[in-house]
Formats: sequence, structure tokens, C-alpha cells
Amino acid sequence: METQKRFEVLVAGRGPAGLAASIALAERGIEVVSLAPVGASPALARAEMLSLAVEAILARLGLGDVLARAVRLRGVERHWNRARPELQDGLSPDAAGPGWSVDRADLQEALTTRAAALGVTEAQGQIRGVAGQPGRWRVTLPNGGSLDARFLVDATGRPAALARRLGAKLRFGLPLLARVWTATAPAPSRLVAKAEPDGWRYTLPHPAGGASVGWLTRPGLVRDAPPSFASTRAQDARSMQLSPVAGPGWLAAGDSAAAFDPIASQGLFNALSGGFFAGNAAADAVRGAPENITVYRLLTERTAARTHHLIPSQYAASGYRTSFWAERAQQTILSKGVTYGL
Ligand SMILES: Cc1cc2nc3c(=O)[nH]c(=O)nc-3n(C[C@H](O)[C@H](O)[C@H](O)COP(=O)(O)OP(=O)(O)OC[C@H]3O[C@@H](n4cnc5c(N)ncnc54)[C@H](O)[C@@H]3O)c2cc1C
Repeated sequence: METQKRFEVLVAGRGPAGLAASIALAERGIEVVSLAPVGASPALARAEMLSLAVEAILARLGLGDVLARAVRLRGVERHWNRARPELQDGLSPDAAGPGWSVDRADLQEALTTRAAALGVTEAQGQIRGVAGQPGRWRVTLPNGGSLDARFLVDATGRPAALARRLGAKLRFGLPLLARVWTATAPAPSRLVAKAEPDGWRYTLPHPAGGASVGWLTRPGLVRDAPPSFASTRAQDARSMQLSPVAGPGWLAAGDSAAAFDPIASQGLFNALSGGFFAGNAAADAVRGAPENITVYRLLTERTAARTHHLIPSQYAASGYRTSFWAERAQQTILSKGVTYGL
């Protein structure tokens, strides 16, 4: 009887976290399969801000040239308090600035090319189920097929599709919806963020020209929204926390481990650096050092807790006292999830 090939590690999700993990694993000589459904993520249409700290991790992943094609941001203009706009991080040409605005499609392409060059196997499909035990997992797919692996990495983003099937629980922050569209008019090379009574918006220059404009509000609120609001797809943008972020024979990385309200500008750094460390911890585990999974879990959970803790102070700094701002000024991760349809 023909036996099915068993991979050493299966990485579910081909976003920044999944690809960073796959690259780290392949660099360590681990046989890795990267699983994701067909179809582009809405994130690929937008520009996102990368903090300065991301330079080292991109260089380590062999992707330093992504920043050469990004827009170097020269500051942050924050209209948080109507009476007093703030200019942060220096707007002078020689100041370091807060980071870069990167084309998500360009970042995705660079990560995909690097993973393929290292021999990562690609598989298509959405997870239908997980069976087995550490060392002998079987992930089933909708077409009736399956993939076998010794270790599982969940990098499926906010759904945390593997970890939840393995018993981990998600906790959520207050509901927050994002709509992002492209403005064709040229934008200054800085992040502009503006508070509104029922939400906030930002403008980020897009490396391909024009700007990505984002509007964040809570579900059901469209007051004062720009006309483009109604025609764009709503995306879940609330903070989330998985617990635990790792267990015997598996771990989660990026948004599936912890997702942050975009006000924190932490998502990509968390996905790239978390994915890289997740890949290395998974490599250690399959090479006989499973205790490094505990180190990864503690580091990831504590770092995320610190970021969740800092988010309310950004809302508290606004001049608005409407319910949108007041609730979020006190928000940390809620103990019970709130569900809503998109
Ligand atoms: C509006 C908005 C603006 C943002 N702006 C910024 C910003 O300026 N700067 C910043 O740093 N961060 C920003 N973020 C956050 C950032 O986009 C995310 O943190 C980042 O994409 C997370 O990467 P990831 O790889 O963990 O997940 P994702 O990018 O979500 O990738 C998940 C992958 O898993 C796959 N997948 C999903 N379900 C399954 C399944 N069942 N089976 C198999 N595969 C599956 C998907 O197809 C995808 O390949 C923003 C987020 C939003 C919503």
C-alpha cells in the first residue's frame, strides 16, 4: 500500500508570518509545506507602515531590497486633538522618521520568491480538520486530500484556524471595522492620522503612487464617513489574543497568535519577527529541543500583553469624549468575545 509523504512541518497561511516561518524553517534544512487557499488577501491592495525596527528582520530574511522600493516616511502628523495637531518623529529631511510605507503586494512577492528559492513546497487549500497527535498530525482539506506533518504552525491570521481546532481560545478587543481605499492624488511622505467623533482615519503614501486611506470605526457607525466608505469591503481590525499561543506539537505566529488594533502599527513587525522566531522554535522542536516552544510561548504572550496594554493610552490622548473614544481609552482585551458579521 502506498504511504503518504510526511512533511516535518506544515505552515498554514501564506501571509508575512507564515512565509517568514517557512523561510526560517527552510534555512534550517527542515522539509516544510506551506498551505493556503487560492485567492488574494484584501491586504495586498494597500500600503502599510513598517516601523524602523523592521529593517533588521527584513535583512535577516534576505529581503532588504523591499525597503529600497518603499516610501521612507519623514514623520507622523497626528490630528488627534482638534485644537492642537502634533508633528512627531521630526519632519526635517535628516531626521530618522518613523519608518516606511510598504506596498503589501510587493512585500508578499518578495517573501514568496524567497520561500520558493529555499525549496518550500506550496499546497493549496483551506483547512477542514486536524487529527492525530504531536509528531503525527494529519490536516484534512476540502477536496478530500490531506497533508501529514510532525509539527504544525498556525499562521492563518485572525481565524487562527489550526490553533482553535487544537483547543486554543480567542479573546477579542472592542469591535472595530476598517475600510481602506486608494486615493489617486499624490500624498506627502508622512503618515497623517485624524480623529473623528466616531472613529479615526489615516493616509499613507503608496509606493506605486497615490495613497492608501483607511477609516476605522465600530460596526454600524457611518456618520461623517467619506463617500468611498460604502463601496469598500469591511475588514475586522479589533485586537485579538490567542491563548495559549503554542502547545505540544504546534504553535501560532503573527495575527493568529495576537492581532492588534491598527492604531498600534505593530502587525507587520509582529508577523515578520514572530514568524521568524516561530520557524526557529519549530525547527528546534523537530530536531529534538521541544522546550524552546515554551520559551517562544512566554515571549510571544508577554510581548503581546504589553502591546495590548499600551493601546488604550493612544485613544485616551484624543480630544474626543464620545463613546467610541471613551470605551477604547479603557479597553484591553475583553474576556468574552463579541461576534458580528461583516
Ligand atoms: C486596515 C488595516 C490596516 C493595517 N495597517 C497596518 C500597518 O500600517 N502596519 C502594520 O504593521 N500592520 C498593519 N495592519 C496589520 C497587518 O496587516 C497584519 O498584522 C498582518 O497582515 C498579519 O500577517 P499574518 O501573516 O499574521 O496574517 P495574514 O496576512 O492575515 O495572512 C493569513 C494567511 O492565512 C491564510 N489562511 C486564512 N485562513 C486559512 C485557513 N483556514 N487555512 C489555510 N490558510 C488560511 C490566508 O489566505 C493568508 O495567506 C493593518 C491591518 C488592517 C486590518
